[in-house]
Amino acid sequence: MKAILPLFIMIDAMGWEILRADPFGKNFAPNRKRLESVFGYSSTCVPSILSGRWPDEHRNWCYFVYDPENSPFRSLRWLRWLPTAVTSRRIFRRYLTKFVKVQLKFRGYFDLYNIPFKFIHLFDFTEKKSPLQPKGMNRGANIFDFLVENKIPYFVTDTTKSEEQNRDDIIAAIESERVDFIFQYWAGLDGLLHMVGNQSPEVPAKLRVYEQWIEQVLAAAKNHYDEVQLYIFSDHGMANCDELVDLKAKLDALPVKMEKDYAVVYDSTMARFWFFNDRARQLIHEALGKVSEGRIMLDDELRHYRTLFDDRQFGETIFLMREGVLIVPSHMGERPIRAMHGYHPTDPQSYATLCTNQASIPDEVTHIPHICRLMEKSALLAKAKNSAAK
Ligand SMILES: [Zn+2]
Repeated sequence: MKAILPLFIMIDAMGWEILRADPFGKNFAPNRKRLESVFGYSSTCVPSILSGRWPDEHRNWCYFVYDPENSPFRSLRWLRWLPTAVTSRRIFRRYLTKFVKVQLKFRGYFDLYNIPFKFIHLFDFTEKKSPLQPKGMNRGANIFDFLVENKIPYFVTDTTKSEEQNRDDIIAAIESERVDFIFQYWAGLDGLLHMVGNQSPEVPAKLRVYEQWIEQVLAAAKNHYDEVQLYIFSDHGMANCDELVDLKAKLDALPVKMEKDYAVVYDSTMARFWFFNDRARQLIHEALGKVSEGRIMLDDELRHYRTLFDDRQFGETIFLMREGVLIVPSHMGERPIRAMHGYHPTDPQSYATLCTNQASIPDEVTHIPHICRLMEKSALLAKAKNSAAK
């Protein structure tokens, strides 16, 4: 029997608006709080939670950046000769993604998404390491570095396994009493929400399943730890996408060309630009000014949200869509999806959630990077009490 188990469970996309009217966790984590997320996708929200730092510090922001000199994808360029009917097929992309990930020894999440092979040699991919492992951040330390440094044995999700397998692995870790800290990452709700939207009855049904799993984990913990410090949280929310904008068609019609005059990554809710001459900058800014469904993020605002990078690694101009508007086609997908995240952090559906069995959540915990402080505090307490109990 051990004294304390810090149990941190991240449920991807379990946003505040999704949870607000739902009784989720009332039996085991009744204390809940709305948290502001970080501007960007899971590619930045998750590293921010794991490191307690902001994108301009850890530099895990958006996946693809313009960097032809360092592009690892040059060898894929010949694929541009294959018909689009083949290369834009999701199944083809999925197969190739797996192959490329192994070839390039990428350790994090990797997806080729819908980047055209014609331009793929222009881009680098910024998550070559896994933020779920020690030394996994682009810059600085994360919670796993902290745990290693403090010699605290931990369990972390294996993202190559299913949600159920990870649940069973947690239970086994608890029963062996070999860990003093658990970080679990369940991604299934995010995938479901992208497909069915935030109003589908499948969403509360999925939350009921997570409740059962958490109850099972807690039942196991009861026999091996006197106390569980339980925190369940999300990285962001999810907005339904009811409007589509073909931003690419508008910009392709201009007399400036991709690769020659500028480069762009069309993420699903924002477009990021690099300019090679003033004319391209001017014409594209003018064209973007006419797109009423979005706006250029000013430097002051990017700085405020900690996503202004001195070297403009992630783009010189960031054009963000209004909540609910999806860029289609984009470099993330050829076809529309029902719901998306990655809108402005203060748009209603962007907010994240923190639920706990602890009596209070410190006032200064207001944004998702602050979850890292709770993790560190809990881990140190477990280390002290669990070793004293031996
Ligand atoms: Zn997602």
